[in-house]
Amino acid sequence: MHELAICQSLLREVQRVAARNDASEVVRIGVVVGPLSGVEAPLLERAFTLARCGTIAANATLEIEEAPLTVWCESCGVESQVAMNALLCGRCGTWKVDLRSGNELLLKQVELSRDETAGATG
Ligand SMILES: [Zn+2]
Repeated sequence: MHELAICQSLLREVQRVAARNDASEVVRIGVVVGPLSGVEAPLLERAFTLARCGTIAANATLEIEEAPLTVWCESCGVESQVAMNALLCGRCGTWKVDLRSGNELLLKQVELSRDETAGATG
């Protein structure tokens, strides 16, 4: 399952963030998924419930936000939001456009919780 591997690498990143911040637990993870990333949100959610087991994010919730699909036109110099089946400039209709966003999968936000009593002993 493609999504499971994605979740595992996301969780590695989350664990790095948690370690850097001395967190005892991860509460919430926010990701941004573009329509061209090849990731299905429901599958990602299901994979996450498997992948989080035994990690610092074992009780974390996953929030998936869909990124807009935007292209940039070389001749107009404008960026337009487009549909997945029509990667064309919104102004002149050319197909000679650069994909600006829509194929990404980004870790947007990690909400951490810190065990306040843990630091008191040292
Ligand atoms: Zn154009």
